[in-house]
Amino acid sequence: AKEDGRNRLRLYDLALHQRFLEETALEEALRRALDNNELRLVYQPQFDAKDPTRLAGAEALLRWQDPEKGPISPGQFIPLAEKSDLITKLGRQVVALVCEQVGTWRAAGLNPPPISFNVSPKDFRGGQLASDLLRTMAQHGVTASQLQVEFTEGTLTGGADVVLKQVQELHEAGIDLAIDDFGTGYSSLINLKRLPLAELKIDKAFVDGLGKSEHDEAIALASLSMARAFGLRTVAEGVETPSQLAWLQAHGSDRIQGFLLARPLEAEDFSALLLDFDST
Ligand code: C2E
Ligand code: CA
Ligand code: CA
Ligand code: CA
Repeated sequence: AKEDGRNRLRLYDLALHQRFLEETALEEALRRALDNNELRLVYQPQFDAKDPTRLAGAEALLRWQDPEKGPISPGQFIPLAEKSDLITKLGRQVVALVCEQVGTWRAAGLNPPPISFNVSPKDFRGGQLASDLLRTMAQHGVTASQLQVEFTEGTLTGGADVVLKQVQELHEAGIDLAIDDFGTGYSSLINLKRLPLAELKIDKAFVDGLGKSEHDEAIALASLSMARAFGLRTVAEGVETPSQLAWLQAHGSDRIQGFLLARPLEAEDFSALLLDFDST
């Protein structure tokens, strides 16, 4: 039995070591990808809940295609980047990509809705976010009303002063702020009061339970009514079924994002969508 235990221990060590090696290799690959500009953004449309044919916004989401490993999901590489120093570089690249794309659409005479993008807690805490973003916007002729910044509640824990200053700067520059994945983190409702937010995003975790789980419905309802009380726009993400859509429409969500209406689109496909909407 003692022998067994030792073997198990060795097996565990090996598995741990294996994981460490894999993470190190992936981190190196991500570093190369950032240096070679191998990351791109896709754009998931958001629609008006009252009239789901009306395009109201879009969320920019990162994609990474490694030459050897194939597509690697942000759920995998974002946490890795956050653990290392790579997130700063990654965050800057997202800002550059989104400003460049919005600038390109405008230059082509297209009129994109506000494009929302995700910012990691570390980028807020770095204290450079607002100035970096405003400089990059100016370079590409992008104005504040054309963008929106999404961040999660976790951003507020640790270094709250620096974060609040960044939030304030963005707000004063006229950039809308959205609280993402609402209800999933160690949130404090006081954040709704002390932050100059424009939008609250109801997480897919709760949308999944609509029509199935009383608890998820209660959380979604509470989130919607709190958002209303604070004058925030609401977006429900991860909407996959007509019954979820119907529930959200009945309970007053402002916007809908999810595979039911549209998957994240490559920039060219999003352009085609913009052309469609412009001509109608
Ligand atoms: P998130 O910010 O909550 O983004 C929404 C995620 O839900 C996206 O996954 C989107 O593709 C997915 N989604 C939207 N509608 C549906 C649906 O109907 N069904 C299902 N199953 N999924 C849906 P994605 O693109 O894999 O991104 C995962 C997470 O990675 C994001 O969650 C965000 O936290 C992070 N992320 C993505 N892009 C960036 C980025 O540019 N910067 C940072 N810091 N994080 C990012
Ligand atoms: Ca998001
Ligand atoms: Ca989200
Ligand atoms: Ca989410």
